[in-house]
This record gives sequence, C-alpha cells and structure tokens, in this order.
Amino acid sequence: MKAWTLKKIGDISYGEVPQREPEAGEVRIRVKAAGICGSDIPRIFETGAHVMPLIPGHEFSGYVESVGEGVDSEWLKKPVGIFPLLFCGKCRSCIGKKYELCRDYSYIGSRQDGAFAEYVNVPVKNLIELPEGVSYETAAMLEPMAVAVHALRTGVGRAEGRDPKSIKAAVCGLGTIGMLLVMFLLEAGYENLYVIGNKRFQKEEILKLGIPEERYLDGEDAKETSRLAKAEGGMDVVFECVGSNTTAELAINSAGPEGRVVLVGNPRSDMKLGRDTYWKILRNQLTVSGIWNSSFTGSEDDDWHYVTRRLAEGRIEPKELITHRLALSELDKGLGIMREKCEDYCKIMIYNS
Ligand SMILES: [Zn+2]
Ligand SMILES: [Zn+2]
Repeated sequence: MKAWTLKKIGDISYGEVPQREPEAGEVRIRVKAAGICGSDIPRIFETGAHVMPLIPGHEFSGYVESVGEGVDSEWLKKPVGIFPLLFCGKCRSCIGKKYELCRDYSYIGSRQDGAFAEYVNVPVKNLIELPEGVSYETAAMLEPMAVAVHALRTGVGRAEGRDPKSIKAAVCGLGTIGMLLVMFLLEAGYENLYVIGNKRFQKEEILKLGIPEERYLDGEDAKETSRLAKAEGGMDVVFECVGSNTTAELAINSAGPEGRVVLVGNPRSDMKLGRDTYWKILRNQLTVSGIWNSSFTGSEDDDWHYVTRRLAEGRIEPKELITHRLALSELDKGLGIMREKCEDYCKIMIYNS
C-alpha cells in the first residue's frame, strides 16, 4: 500500500510499504479521509514520534475492508470513525471506563502506524459506526469534535440545570478545537459567548457562526482582551485553547468570582504565571481544570455519541472549517502550509480516492 513514513525528525516520505494482516480483534480500515492535526507538525518536524519509523495520522474515517479473527463479519463495508487511543483495558482508569486516562496506552498515528496511508489496522473496540448521512470528511473530524465536547462538558457540566443563556463563557484561541468548541457551545444554547482570536480569517469564520462583532476580541491587543475581565463582572467559564503563557494568563484573569478555567491547548513551552495572575486564582476561588482527549466508552452518553447524534440530526456541520482538500500523495503540501503558516488555514483534509 501507499503511505507516508516518518523515518526521523523532519524526514517524511511517500512510498510503497508492506500491508499488515489484521490480527485477532482487529479490523483493516480503508482510509477515506484524514485530517492533519496541529500536533502532527511538532511530531514530524520538531520532536519526532515515540516510535520511528512511523506512519502518522490520527484523525480519520473510512470503511472496514477486512476483519481479523474473532471479529463479527457484520462490520465488513461499514463506514466508521475511530477512537485513536488504544487503551489497555486493565488499569484503574480503564476499569472505571475513563479510557482517555489509561496508564498503559498506545496511540494510532503517534505510537503505532496511523492514517496517512491507504489502509490502517485498528482494534474493533475502537470503532464507532457512522450514522447515515455523515460524510467521511466530517467523520474524519470526530476526534477533534469529541475533544471540544469533552472540554465543553467539563467546563459547563457544573452549570447543568442553569439556563445556558445565563452563563458567561469565553473561548480563547480559534484553531480547530476552539472553532469546534464555539460551534458546540452555540448548539447547546450558550449564547453569552466571547471569543478571542488573532487572525482575520478566524474572525470571518466566527462572524459567520453568528457571534456579534463586538464579542470577537483581538488576542494581540491587550486593551481589547482586558475588556473580557470587566465584561459583566468576569466570565463564568473560560476555555484556553492555545497553550501559551499569554493566553493562560488571559484566561485566568478573565474569570469572575468562582469561575472555571478549562485548559485545553497543548503547552508550547514552559508555562509561567505572574504573581498577580496567581492571586486571581486564590482571590476569585477559581477552579482550574485540565482536559485530555475525550470519553469513548461505547455507551450513548460518551463524547463520541454526543457528537455523532448531533451530526446525524444536522445540528452541527464542521465541514466549513475545511480550508484545504488534498490527495494522499500531496500530504507534504498540507504539512508545509501548517508549518510555514504561509496561507490561512483551519482544517487541512487528506483524501484517498
Ligand atoms: Zn489531534
Ligand atoms: Zn488502561
């Protein structure tokens, strides 16, 4: 099969690689669409992957092409989304069905071969069947959508029972996860929403979603962002979706009394807090929560089902976030755009014919 192999940091190439037979409990997926994640860029160009050589790619969809021993042949030809975290099933977190916190996990596309290929093998227990009408490109965004929903449910979960309109929320950072989070917040009725971005293109997208212009703040303009802390006595919940010192401080400083700060963005460097910011956590009795991945338990109330239900009902459509569509053989072009930031982009999607 054809695939992109990362041999060492910065060295990724397209070519023929051997195809593995699915083992017991596994299926072989014919990949139809795969998104490039922000985390793929440092993985490929800066830090390398945990194991190399490796085929990256963890946000993807496709159909079941063949099944390994012990897997129901009913799965054959079914269109599926894939939870990319391969949990052990034995540790304390797994026994509690908190698979995202597994202590002994592997990961498709970072610790074992992923989806920038024609085919990829995955355990059948990691599949979610796609409802009718959900396209492959939409389904390739299930993983980032589930992460956004995980953040949403952590951030406003405590507010259940309160009218969503009464909750003041802010999303700081408008990459894919931030954009998706805004979509899911709006869908859930959280209209009292502020957003902070730093690109003209992000602002255009946000206005299209129906956020009033005065509620879009330019993250690069300190005068603008300081409005957030003053707005209506501070936010009830702030989602930090960047992972920088500046935005983490902004998030904490913008939260009001007994507010919640939800940390979603992967840190880009060591994180330091100024003393005044630290004081805010104490003086405002803030709750600061971390978010990791998403809940995937196979039951109707996990994050992945929350997403697929809304996709099937047409209540969410993330397709407009796809700014570039490329063939598998053109992956390097997409990686270049994200690495050099030479063009505006949100989600870059790779397709297999
Ligand atoms: Zn990702
Ligand atoms: Zn585990």
